[in-house]
Amino acid sequence: MPHPTLPHPPFDASLDAIDQLRSVGREFHARGWSLGTSSNYSVVASRAPLELLITVSGKDKSALGRDDFVRVDATGRPCDGTGRKSSAETLLHCLIAELIPSVGAILHTHSVWSTILSGADLPRGAVRIEGFEMLKGLDGIVTHETFEEVPVFANAQDMNELAGRIRARFTAADWSHPTRPPFHGFLLSRHGLYTWGRDLAEARRQIEIHEFLFECVARSRTFPTLSAYQQQSAQQ
Ligand SMILES: [Zn+2]
Repeated sequence: MPHPTLPHPPFDASLDAIDQLRSVGREFHARGWSLGTSSNYSVVASRAPLELLITVSGKDKSALGRDDFVRVDATGRPCDGTGRKSSAETLLHCLIAELIPSVGAILHTHSVWSTILSGADLPRGAVRIEGFEMLKGLDGIVTHETFEEVPVFANAQDMNELAGRIRARFTAADWSHPTRPPFHGFLLSRHGLYTWGRDLAEARRQIEIHEFLFECVARSRTFPTLSAYQQQSAQQ
């Protein structure tokens, strides 16, 4: 039974991958994270060889049909013979799936807060999120007494060039901790968020947590006392 106050049904992990992705689209559109035909979502369909099932480009995410997906190879090229095409950003999904072998799903959204905050913090190269209880919603974080540095990359239309910069940042980061990754997603400046999970349920949760935290950080900057506190704690 759908919740009476929600315009979209609750996420149901028992559905098949396509229906889970369609459900994510309805939800993210309703929550303002995937408006117009923006965003793209994928699941890893095969690991050897690496293949992804990803949304076809230019589709309204509130009304994805079962045919609005295409299977692509590790380079982002369609490989299912349907003639369907995904967006140029498919390459970034493939890159994430290649760089993190445990990834089963990748989600990309265009929310207001991720757009604003990524533009503001591009000069720093990261958005710092510190001291929030909701950080514990990110994989491997067990206390609010920590911080997350979400990398921010300058936006680009040349996906090969952008993928090269993202790959370099991933390679330079410390992934040696068994349960705590160095970051759980990244931002493209004035564009949006990429995050991932072992499955679609986890990736969906990480979008929700990031979006909540981005709004907290951005709104906190409009409170001078909170901003002073954050600057103080960042210096300690
Ligand atoms: Zn995008």
